Amino acid sequence: MANASTARKTERPQGDIQFVDLAAQRARIGKAMDDAVLHAIHDGKYILGPQVTQIEKDLSAFCGAKHVITCANGTESLGLFLMAKGVRPGDTIFVPAFTFVATAEVVAWLGATAYFVDIDPDTFNICPNSLAAAIEEAKTKGMKPCGIIAVDLFGLPADYPAIEKIAKDHGMWVMSDAAQGFGGSINGKKIGTFGDVTSTSFFPAKPLGCYGDGGALMTDDDAMADLLRSLRFHGKGEDKYDNVRIGMNSRLDTVQAAILIEKLKIFGEELDERQKVADRYTAALSDIVKTPKLPSGYTSAWAQYTLTLPEGANRDAIIAACKAEGVPTMVYYPIPLSKQKGYAHYPSVSTGVPVSEDLAQRVLSLPMHPYLDNATQDYIIDVVRSALQK
Ligand SMILES: *Cc1c(COP(=O)(O)O)cnc(C)c1O
Repeated sequence: MANASTARKTERPQGDIQFVDLAAQRARIGKAMDDAVLHAIHDGKYILGPQVTQIEKDLSAFCGAKHVITCANGTESLGLFLMAKGVRPGDTIFVPAFTFVATAEVVAWLGATAYFVDIDPDTFNICPNSLAAAIEEAKTKGMKPCGIIAVDLFGLPADYPAIEKIAKDHGMWVMSDAAQGFGGSINGKKIGTFGDVTSTSFFPAKPLGCYGDGGALMTDDDAMADLLRSLRFHGKGEDKYDNVRIGMNSRLDTVQAAILIEKLKIFGEELDERQKVADRYTAALSDIVKTPKLPSGYTSAWAQYTLTLPEGANRDAIIAACKAEGVPTMVYYPIPLSKQKGYAHYPSVSTGVPVSEDLAQRVLSLPMHPYLDNATQDYIIDVVRSALQK
């Protein structure tokens, strides 16, 4: 009997297949980045140097937000906004149950209550109906709903038009957790301009990553921007030894800013390449498995390309079959936050979060980056198809 690999039409590429290929990006712009890093080091302005001011301007020009305030990482960008809003014990903040832990972690930092909401099965993002129900019932229970953190999971913008309307009806704020979504848009309006504030991460594997930790906040609100700049720098007032409020130390390194300046120059092209990779996966796989779909008017930053396996599929066996053929896959995320040990004591909407619980069992992300060549992708598709059909 012919085994799977001899039946295959494609050949295994030489070298390891990368889930995210940062080396390929370095091969393209490594020299420019090295020069920029050395320049920053020779320049000696290591904390909030001119490159930090420059990348804040460049990011603002890219996404259309009036102010960009960089900070140390994506998690702290979320936390800084909650600090700016004066979030405290007794406040209730609505978050999707299916996301990276940081979205709820920052709520816990401030002693507030995270309230888990279910997601939409087609977008993986917070479900507006579940959100509206959760807010109503929290009010009935005498809780104090004050804000919503929407996440652009896997790079797809959340349903901001619906979420902003719900927030307005209840006098609540909206933070866009765009750690994965920066680069996406809805009807031409870019991520960075939805809600009251947007936060993002420059963790290396994010669509726009640096070479360490980094993050940023975006807003059109002048007073909020000033407050965030103060909070990221020990609550500074007129100067750094004038401390007018309790803040923290959360700044983007000058060296990381220098790297981001170079990477942002090619980010638009990289987003186009990610879209092409996504289109090729969808064309080759949608007949046998549920592939991600963009709602009309939406563009995604394609942080991940995530399949929804059929009910009852043996995901572990599929992962193992791919791995045996050299194809790396990832499960984002295996456990919804509502079931995580550290978070299980927080409330969920009374109808539960069944979609989050179900999808945690069925999602599977494939290699996704702008430098995935056609031959390698064809091989991945071949391996995934046969793993799914076993
Ligand atoms: C990565 C991520 C964060 C946190 O970013 P860090 O820079 O790693 O702190 C927050 N939210 C989401 C949805 C993320 O994917």
